[in-house]
Formats: sequence, structure tokens, C-alpha cells
Amino acid sequence: MAEGEFPAGALMKGKRGLVMGVANKNSIAWGIARQLHAQGAELAFSYQDEALEKRVRPLVESLGGEPFMVTADVSNDASMDTCFETLKTKWGRLDFLVHAIAFAGKDELQGSFTHNTTREGFKRAMDISAFSFVDAARRASALMPSREEGGGAMVTLTYLGAERVVPNYNVMGVAKAALEASTRYIARDLGPAGIRVNAISAGPMRTLAMAGISGGRQLMKTGKDWSLLKEDTTMEGVAGAALYLLSDLGKSCTGEVLHVDAGFHVVGVPDAGDGEE
Ligand code: NAP
Repeated sequence: MAEGEFPAGALMKGKRGLVMGVANKNSIAWGIARQLHAQGAELAFSYQDEALEKRVRPLVESLGGEPFMVTADVSNDASMDTCFETLKTKWGRLDFLVHAIAFAGKDELQGSFTHNTTREGFKRAMDISAFSFVDAARRASALMPSREEGGGAMVTLTYLGAERVVPNYNVMGVAKAALEASTRYIARDLGPAGIRVNAISAGPMRTLAMAGISGGRQLMKTGKDWSLLKEDTTMEGVAGAALYLLSDLGKSCTGEVLHVDAGFHVVGVPDAGDGEE
């Protein structure tokens, strides 16, 4: 995607936020970050480990200014402690959080959910893909301004496999269902403090995470062919939804799962001929 495809403006001017989950230039978190940056947001980026830092740094540097990058392996409490202590020391205040993190073992993302899901794999998918949002939300909310000073906003990324059966999505669908339910409960807890908490249910997009799902190419093709718009889900669409939810445009919206999938999720039966070569 070329620079400048994200509308510029000042909707996020004066707001500081943490973006979790940039792995490369195709990451959904990176599209969202660029959109927020174009609207004036000041961003901090968390990455899982040193290997990722090398890949992510050039992207962050391309935004200009002093890069603010911090390690955060969401499966490790000490790493999360350090991440949020660093944010507190450097900024003191956080206005928004972008959570775009998920993981399940490759063996668990194929074939039979019933037979291929191990106890360890189930716990890991839940921990990294669902609990991590609960944990990050708790930590981030402690740094957010009071309701009188503007409150805050959080967004996480989910997928239709939480609501419907999607072949091979398996344990990740179960983790996403937990993530969506967590979004509602967190929204309930933080609502009185003026903090809005929402999820974006994105259609299939070509990213590293998608590459880990067996039959990902078929998901992409069906996602386009059966969609109402007859097009792939775009990064502009997902990033635009994040901008809406994280900026003051999204006032009054919380506890919501917003589908950004070219209308795929409302289809009960595809049109005759959809998906034929
Ligand atoms: P991605 O670029 O691979 O991003 C996933 C991110 O999760 C990576 O940065 C990854 O880091 C990170 N992560 C995994 N385990 C972690 C850990 N223990 N600690 C910290 N970070 C960890 O793929 P993406 O598609 O943009 O995924 C972002 C979110 O969108 C995910 O929640 C995904 O389920 C969701 N989503 C994706 C699609 C799609 O079609 N692509 C559709 C709907 C929703 P590493 O590379 O180091 O593992």
C-alpha cells in the first residue's frame, strides 16, 4: 500500500497510544498504525522479541520522529510489567490501545478441531490470543485519563471464526470467541471510567498469521467471492474502522464487534455461481 492512501487529518492529534502486534509491513497493526499516525497520533510499538525488533524498527523509523519501541511478550508477566512501566515512565499517560495479537500452533490450525486440539495448545491459544487482551486492557486502563479528561479507547482484532464454523480455524475460533466475550466484559468494567472497548472482526487478509492457517488461500477466495461487495477486505477499511473506534468519532460506541469484511458475515447462502472459476 502506497504512502498517502490513509486520509490525513487531526482526529488523533494530542493522543498517545500503544500498538501491539506489528510483525511486518503486511500486519494489520501496521495498517492501523499508519492510519492513526496520518491523523496525528503519537505511537509506541511493542514487539515480542529481539528478532522481531530488527524487522519492526525500520517500519517504525519510516514514520519519522523518535521511535518508541518496547518489548512485550504477552505470555510473560515480567515482560508485560516492563513494557507498561516503560510507558508510564516515558509518557505517564496512554489514550488508546491497539491489540492485534494471536497465536496457535500450526498443527492445531488444520483438520479436526476435536482430534487436533491438545490441552497445551488450547491453553496457549487462549493465553496469547484472548487473555493477553484482558491483561493489556487492565494495564493500559491504569494509564488512561479520567472520564473528565477524555477517558480512553481500546480495540482488538477478531474474526468470524468466533461466531461460525470456519474450516481449520479450530482452536483459534474458540480463542476469538473468548476474546469477543472478554471485549464486552472489559467494556462493562471500564465504561464508568469513560474508556471504550471494541473489537474489529476483519475479513481474511494476507498476513503472517493468515499464512499459518491451513487452507488460508481458500478462505481469502471465498471471503471475496461470497462477500456482498465482491472484493477482498482492505487494510484501508480495517484501519478506517480502528480510527473511528479509537477517535472521538466513536463516542458512544463500546462493547461492539464491528465487522469489516465486505459484508461476508451477513451472507446465508451465496449467489449461484459465486466462487466458480
Ligand atoms: P501478524 O502480522 O502475524 O500479527 C500477529 C502478531 O501477533 C505478530 O506481531 C506476532 O508476533 C504477535 N504475537 C504472537 N504471539 C505473541 C506473543 N507471545 N507476544 C507478543 N506478540 C505476539 O498477523 P495479522 O493478521 O496482522 O494479525 C493481527 C490480528 O488480527 C490477530 O489477532 C489476528 O487473529 C487478527 N485477524 C487477522 C485476520 C487476517 O485475515 N489476517 C482476520 C481477522 C483477524 P510474532 O510474529 O513474533 O509471533
